[in-house]
Amino acid sequence: MSEQTIALVTGANKGIGYEIAAGLGALGISVGVGSRDRERGEEAVAKLRANGVDAFAVPLDVTDDESVISAVSLLDERFGRLDVLVNNAGIAGPWPMAPSVATAESLREVMETNVIGVVRVTNAMLPLLGRSVRPRIVNQSSHLSSMTLQTTPGVELGDVDGVYTPSKTFLNAITVQYAKDLTGIKVNGACPGYVATEFNGFQGHETPENGARIAIRLATLPDDGPTGGLFDHAGTVPW
Ligand code: NDP
Repeated sequence: MSEQTIALVTGANKGIGYEIAAGLGALGISVGVGSRDRERGEEAVAKLRANGVDAFAVPLDVTDDESVISAVSLLDERFGRLDVLVNNAGIAGPWPMAPSVATAESLREVMETNVIGVVRVTNAMLPLLGRSVRPRIVNQSSHLSSMTLQTTPGVELGDVDGVYTPSKTFLNAITVQYAKDLTGIKVNGACPGYVATEFNGFQGHETPENGARIAIRLATLPDDGPTGGLFDHAGTVPW
């Protein structure tokens, strides 16, 4: 079995995910670039490889069971295991959409990607992660997800934004449950900050490279590192 650390980053063809792949690659990690669009994935891989990253394409739509099963087979055949899973793929859905005007369909769509997609991918990858000596799972969350920050007077998180925020709060709850369930795997949530990507029409004030830093750190935690927490660059973020 190869000694090189093997990582998979979902939604890595652009934005923060791409920079997570680049950052992990710079540490010598072999990175699977998850992309639901094959061509966009291949383009990202070519760019990463041109920058010296040991990247490979993993066609992966987190909402599609067959796609996820194919990704597991690809990793199994090529490496026989997975060391790091970064559940980064996410959508904003209709934005802003206050709960009072949200449709069941919009909520379902966001939850399908941001929460159920994470569970679908994670559970499918568990047998491969179980063969790793240092397995790590990072769930890409958001400061917006924090119930404490949402309800602390004076903390400015922006206006009511509806269905996206609760999806990340749900993801946090799942992260805690996974950490309790999977005692051999470190499972943590990451808050990248407000990052300029397509996701927010490039309105964020952080670069994708900076936004990627916390997920990279959680993906490469030492054995005495935390599990079941939510973190940003500055440290622990309250749930
Ligand atoms: P981008 O829109 O730039 O990238 C999102 C990525 O997710 C793309 O690669 C996209 O693929 C992929 N994706 C979406 N749906 C699926 C799917 N069903 N299957 C597989 N991949 C999918 O956004 P960011 O880089 O900004 O966001 C990355 C993560 O960071 C998200 O989870 C987001 O919620 C989170 N986040 C972002 C913040 C920000 O300020 N930008 C703040 C806090 C959290 P495609 O190119 O095909 O659309």
